[in-house]
Amino acid sequence: MTSGKIHIFGGLILTGFVISFFFTVLKIRLIDLPVVVIIIFLYSQLPDIDHKMSNITWLNLILGITLLWIGHFTKYDTTLFGMILLTVIVISVLKFPHRGPTHTMWFVFASPFLLLFLPDGLFYKPGLMISAAIACYSHLLLDGYWFKLTLKSKKKDFTILSK
Ligand SMILES: [Zn+2]
Repeated sequence: MTSGKIHIFGGLILTGFVISFFFTVLKIRLIDLPVVVIIIFLYSQLPDIDHKMSNITWLNLILGITLLWIGHFTKYDTTLFGMILLTVIVISVLKFPHRGPTHTMWFVFASPFLLLFLPDGLFYKPGLMISAAIACYSHLLLDGYWFKLTLKSKKKDFTILSK
């Protein structure tokens, strides 16, 4: 299994487990489940956007460009979301060491706010944001960080990267 698949698998299990207890609080309806699965899929891999070769970096590039398109050609205002996403990807790929700032609790708390740019009125956004945060946190857990707050990556992590 590639690390991407492990993270998706872990994200689905942990997030699915947690939200199954809080369906009503999070206001997740049956019809929302495909969207929740997509969010878990993206957010369980999102911390690895600092990795130049990772699938999620490419996927997010495609997603960002698609959102710019949708914003341009439809009535949905997704342009800002697309622009922010693309900016975050470019900065993290160029500036961040692998397992640096995107592998911290700060990122777990901040990145779900991107979902606020989803079209209004379709979802209960706090529910989706909490699901995203759990999926993102599952990534940190699997990478061995229980509660990482420092933005630097530890030296040993570079050896994992260079393998
Ligand atoms: Zn990672």
